[in-house]
Amino acid sequence: MDNRPTLPPEIARRRTFAIIAHPDAGKTTLTEKFLLFGGAIQMAGQVRAKGEARRTRSDFMQMEKDRGISVSASAMSFDFDSYRFNLVDTPGHSDFSEDTYRTLTAVDAAIMVIDGAKGVESQTQKLFEVCRMRDLPILTFCNKMDREARDTFDIIDEIQENLAIDVTPASWPIGHGRDFLGCYDMIHDRLELMSRADRNIVGESVRLNGLDDPKLADHIPAAMLEKLREDIEMARELLPKFDQQAISEGTLSPIWFGSAINSFGVQELMRGMADYGPQPQPLKTDARQIDPAEKKVTGFVFKVQANMDPKHRDRVAFLRLASGHFKRGMKLLHVRAGKPMSVSNPVLFLASDRELTEEAWAGDIIGIPNHGQLRIGDTLTEGEAIRFSGIPSFAPELLQTCRANDPLKSKHLEKALMQFAEEGAAKVFKPAIGSGFIVGVVGALQFEVLASRIEQEYGLPVRFEPSQFTSARWLAGDKTAVDKVVNTNKQHIATDHDGDLVFLTRLQWDIDRIERDNDGVTLTATKEMM
Ligand code: GDP
Repeated sequence: MDNRPTLPPEIARRRTFAIIAHPDAGKTTLTEKFLLFGGAIQMAGQVRAKGEARRTRSDFMQMEKDRGISVSASAMSFDFDSYRFNLVDTPGHSDFSEDTYRTLTAVDAAIMVIDGAKGVESQTQKLFEVCRMRDLPILTFCNKMDREARDTFDIIDEIQENLAIDVTPASWPIGHGRDFLGCYDMIHDRLELMSRADRNIVGESVRLNGLDDPKLADHIPAAMLEKLREDIEMARELLPKFDQQAISEGTLSPIWFGSAINSFGVQELMRGMADYGPQPQPLKTDARQIDPAEKKVTGFVFKVQANMDPKHRDRVAFLRLASGHFKRGMKLLHVRAGKPMSVSNPVLFLASDRELTEEAWAGDIIGIPNHGQLRIGDTLTEGEAIRFSGIPSFAPELLQTCRANDPLKSKHLEKALMQFAEEGAAKVFKPAIGSGFIVGVVGALQFEVLASRIEQEYGLPVRFEPSQFTSARWLAGDKTAVDKVVNTNKQHIATDHDGDLVFLTRLQWDIDRIERDNDGVTLTATKEMM
């Protein structure tokens, strides 16, 4: 496939990926079926709560309270055949897109789920663009074929045009809606039939000798069979051919058609991830590229989740292992802090349980319980002072001032807000002048979620008020020049939870002015979290 060193089998069998989808396309249902076929859960339905819960705001808060569910969905490991799958997930709500973006820095591939009737939707497009920035290989699953769906060629064309990626059919649907019978497996020349009797079992698989096999007529009515033959002939002539290298490079996406709720097409998709999905990939640091085959352990934190267990005020940092063979109890260097850290109780997330893990390999995601030492973007190594790059922190698009209802509780509030900032749930800016904190988010719903969490987790009623500012930019550049900007614009200056300087304003004009008048100073909308 490529000319990197051969990986040890334990690493080579790992597939670490995320599912990207527009809300409602079927991400939760597909996840549930993955776990079912991965043997991680006995009956589908256990992660159901997540999909259902986020339908309304109040239910969403309830879900946040009921941490177990959203947590088990953050990173899940399960086996498929001889492979180990690590599925990294984030709440699918569009208000949490930043979280989702960061998740995509921790995976080697993505599965894009689209609804067969709706095609490429706005959120699909946004998430796809993020995958493309990293050239992630993308496998596509066109879901809900048991409902009225668009013409197969139209769906493929739409993906090719809207997302500017080549698409090659791995399977071809036979009918849709009530007439949906199953798919023709274009890779293995097999007929896969959907069972409508039981949603949790896989239908019949018929081995064939190509499209002229007389057995086809036993399963497909004549008119549909004729259309199928025509379609596939045309697809083979007109659509891009299957090409492993192009898939690995992220320029060609194989597409499977199916119905997640009926368990149909799911195993073929999993097979596809096993056979054509990438092994753990090298990752960039500020100093050099890290190959997963390297003996020494390295990894980075891409997500921090607080208060997972309401009884303990602990946090779990999710670490993507970039290289090596990790063993429980290992002492690793916390690069930012410049201190060793014993990782004695790492957790591997198996469906709904948290399990202590004895070992993990490059590609795996482990949870490290801690009391706030680990933040998003932190690197752990066996001693080398490197930092993984490319974990973005976005400038928030909405700013509000947050105050405690009880003015004497301001210190308390600071503590709560800083914790959420470290978790990556919001940006928190402490103005150089004046009281209150300025909180920035990327979606309006987050203010409500935050207010509710601060009240529940800290017993602190707070209110959010409109802020005089609408934009935040990180200040970077030559120290003297930056100091000058700070001293002459005090009313616009604040610091974030890392103590980094931020310029707050309501006018784009101000941002341009500062850059124009101050050589060597740049105002950036993203800060790499390192
Ligand atoms: P998510 O928002 O992407 O996580 O989507 P869900 O998995 O929650 O699915 C959204 C809705 O579509 C739910 O009501 C599912 O039961 C339904 N759904 C999911 N997969 C299928 C499918 O293959 N066929 C049909 N008819 N409905 C489906």
